[in-house]
Formats: sequence, C-alpha cells, structure tokens
Amino acid sequence: MRIVIKIGTSTLTHGTGSLNIRRTEELCKTISDLKNCGHEIVLVSSGAIGMGVGRLHLPGRPSDMPTKQAAAAVGQCEMMYTYDRMFDMYNHVSAQILVSGEDVKEPHRKANFENTVRRLLELGAIPVINENDAVVTDEIGVETTIGENDTLSAIVACCAGADLLIILSDINGLYTADPRRDPNAVLIPLVREITPEVEALAGSAGTSLGTGGMSTKLSAAKLCMAAGIDMIIINGSSPEALYDAVEGKCVGTRFTSRGGADT
Ligand code: GLU
Repeated sequence: MRIVIKIGTSTLTHGTGSLNIRRTEELCKTISDLKNCGHEIVLVSSGAIGMGVGRLHLPGRPSDMPTKQAAAAVGQCEMMYTYDRMFDMYNHVSAQILVSGEDVKEPHRKANFENTVRRLLELGAIPVINENDAVVTDEIGVETTIGENDTLSAIVACCAGADLLIILSDINGLYTADPRRDPNAVLIPLVREITPEVEALAGSAGTSLGTGGMSTKLSAAKLCMAAGIDMIIINGSSPEALYDAVEGKCVGTRFTSRGGADT
C-alpha cells in the first residue's frame, strides 16, 4: 500500500518542545519496518515550530509572526536531522519537501510536487512533507497558507494517490463526547459519512504546541473520503498501533467511503 502518515507536534515532542526521544525512535523503527514489508510511506510531519521553541528555549509557542518563522526555521532543521539519523539506522533515506498553499493549488506547481513525491517513492526514499512555515505567512486576504497539517496530509494523500492516510494524534480517535471531560465518552471505531451529527462531536481539542483539533481531522477525512481514500486516526503515543492500522485491524477511528460490513 501507499500510506501517508501524519505526525503531530504532540507525538514528536514533550510539552517543553524538546524531542520525545523514545517515541520518535519507536516511530521511525515502525515506519522503517512497514517500508521493509513493502509499503510505500510518505510522512507529513509537524513539529518545526514546536521543536524550534525547544531548541531556542522560548517560553512557549510564539504569537508574533517573525518569531514563529524563526522557530520554524530552527525546528525544521532539527526535525529533519532527527528523521534522517533515525531512518538511516534502518537503512532508509528521508527527503524533505516544504510546500505552501500555492504549491498544491496552482496546477503546474501541483504537478511538480506530485512528480517529486512519485519519483522519491520510486527511488525508495521517505518523503517528509511540511508547510514552509519559515516563509509562508497568512496575511489577511491572501490565502497562501494551508495553515495546519491535518488538511495538508489529506491533500498530500490525494496528490500521492495514497491508499490510506493515518493521522497520529494525542487522542485515540473520535469519541461520542470529549473523553477528557466526560467519563462516559465512547470511541467510535468506524465512520462512513461526515454528517452534521458527526461534526458536532468534534469540539475543539488541541495542545499548546500544535495547532490541530478534531475539526481539522474531520475536514481531512472529508477530502480523503471524497477521493476514495480511507483515513484512520490513532493515538501516536503507541507507534506500534500503526501495524494494526495498516493490517486493517480495529484501532482508533476509521473513516471510509467504501462498502462492507461494519467492524
Ligand atoms: N507546520 C507546523 C509545524 O511544523 C505545524 C502545523 C500543524 O500543527 O498542523 O510546526
């Protein structure tokens, strides 16, 4: 299978912004093993700003644009250095692609992006994609940003012709209520349609260093389902769950537009 895996800042780093070494090592080991099984893997990784915060010892996620961009420039470097070293341990090669909104909207640039991803996969590399946060700004009235990586990962899954998008999150999947507040909240294993009722379940979860929440994951699911691509949300705290997701076992929340019996 061709699989896009989206990794959030909260999976890669501790709350301090410093690298979660154990988690990241497990993640790179599992992804390398999935590649060894014969799967093609594309990563969409957040963490540039979060890791920049850690590396520059900033007190928290910056709110002003120049500091955000500076943090992204520093953190993106650290993040790729980390991926490159860890994948190299398992004899795999990583490749960085930084994109802006225009790169995936404007047809000519989109075709270039798709060609690069395809060629990297043919060459056996692991493309690691992020938004080019160091230079892309979201000025009012100018839509050059994608803004968050849940949506970017769905766009990448469509561009790459993926079979599956797996979003690693700090939550197990979509629940009937916010599990952090409601002890009766139950995990929903399968969603076949994003109805207004499903959207109402999303709330607005999010951590201090990342940007996403459940609603951006539902937007990503809509894009994937429209393209016939399954999307699964799993908890990034146990990277081994990736094996279950890839093997079609019941883990996290699967969004699918395909037919078949409910699991
Ligand atoms: N591109 C941002 C970063 O690498 C993250 C966006 C997101 O968290 O969705 O820090």
